[in-house]
Amino acid sequence: MDYRSDLYIDGAWRAGGEGRTFPVLDPAEGTELAAFAAATEADCLAAVEAAAAAFEGWAATPPRERGELLRRAFDLLTAEREVLAEIIVRENGKAFPDALAEAVYATEFFRWFSEESVRVGGDFRLSPSGDKRIVVTHQPIGVSLLVTPWNFPAAMATRKLAPALAAGCTTVLKPARETPLTAAYVVDVLERAGAPRGVVNLVTPVPTGPAVAAMVAHPAVRKLSFTGSTEVGRVLLHAAADTVVSTSMELGGNAPFVVLEGADVDAAVDGAIVAKMRNGGAACTAANRFYVHASLYEEFAAKLTAAMDAFVLGPGTDRASTLGALVSPEERDKVASLVDTAVTEGAKVRLGGDTAPSGAGAFYPATVLVDVAHGSTINRTEIFGPVAALVPFDTVDDAVRMANDTIYGLIGYVFGREDEALRVALRLDAGMVAVNRGVASDPAAPFGGTKQSGLGREGSSEGILEFLEEKYVAVAP
Ligand code: NAD
Repeated sequence: MDYRSDLYIDGAWRAGGEGRTFPVLDPAEGTELAAFAAATEADCLAAVEAAAAAFEGWAATPPRERGELLRRAFDLLTAEREVLAEIIVRENGKAFPDALAEAVYATEFFRWFSEESVRVGGDFRLSPSGDKRIVVTHQPIGVSLLVTPWNFPAAMATRKLAPALAAGCTTVLKPARETPLTAAYVVDVLERAGAPRGVVNLVTPVPTGPAVAAMVAHPAVRKLSFTGSTEVGRVLLHAAADTVVSTSMELGGNAPFVVLEGADVDAAVDGAIVAKMRNGGAACTAANRFYVHASLYEEFAAKLTAAMDAFVLGPGTDRASTLGALVSPEERDKVASLVDTAVTEGAKVRLGGDTAPSGAGAFYPATVLVDVAHGSTINRTEIFGPVAALVPFDTVDDAVRMANDTIYGLIGYVFGREDEALRVALRLDAGMVAVNRGVASDPAAPFGGTKQSGLGREGSSEGILEFLEEKYVAVAP
């Protein structure tokens, strides 16, 4: 397969300033897929300058035209989604069905924000004293730096690029080092859709931290939209403080999955499989802590174990695989070590577990742990792998207390009788709750977390507001 493996700056694909590259690896095979251009700090600042030069023109481009560009990108990616999925499989390691689902989800952000670009509102009214008209309008915030993770390399990029471009902002995309090929493909699609020079830029700095900090400090950068770990999010919030850059932060999660007394166990297991195993568990929304009412605990554990056992572990290039590789041997070893620690802390392995050192492929089997203690290491840590950790509970108050006992607040899942499940959903301290379903994400819904899971929302009509600033003009009545 041929991959684009260059930087994209000011409308041109090019090597990094010093001619350095870094390897992009296939985590399922351990082989090198491409040597990607390593951006220098100067390359990154050139990208910011290009975005700054293009800003005035793009901000003045009629919303309809901006929307039409996004619509063309949607059409192109829809036609090419199998190609995109293949690239995701290769560099991320996930199974093909997961990659294809991501490609579809990623593409939908272009369609959604092509429609939102023409729906930005404002206000025009008389002040209470009658001395003036209050005119409120929205203006694009400016050059936007978009930093994305490796776990959804396409969707996390389009979830930022689409609203930024719809709002009239110009962009610099900085994808994760593990998955730049997918980002380059998305940028290539935007170029083919007609993005003017400088409106979209792609940089992959090595090392990352100093170059991102230099871009954040550039006076033209007015927005930092980040998706990644809470640890890196904190670092970037500090960096953004120096120049008071507006930030949107989509950070880590530690999602509770609550199965209430009286829940339909089969439906809960179906939901658990989606909530846990989508993306092989490498999702910020992944169910991480299963709290199951004692009356259903054994039945749920047995049925979940059977359903987890049905996953076919193997490379995503084999279309029969339903559970692919983790993104790197390091990620795989992190998951293995979490499971080992859980066992030393008293958990029992019902399925899977793997203590062998990782070989060429970063594979970890579907695993079910029971008798996990609330507050144990695995219960407090974002697992990011195919491991379900089950904790029993006796009362609804206990379940809610344990579910909320975390620094994270991205998403929760509740299964139970509808009225009670809804009441519990309202008590969960999370930005999103899925009731009697295993997935909540939708481009038309506001995605984001409370507490240390983030700031701001992506998708929906709110996603575009992250890239707009309110402007109030006082005029004579
Ligand atoms: P990460 O925080 O390690 O990296 C994210 C991005 O930040 C990458 O592009 C990386 O190169 C960059 N980065 C790393 N160190 C940096 C630094 N010092 N300065 C500037 N940039 C830096 O996250 P990851 O491992 O790629 O992704 C997994 C994490 O992302 C998980 O915690 C997951 O929950 C989170 N995530 C959150 C959401 C959400 O919407 N809330 C979605 C997907 C992933």
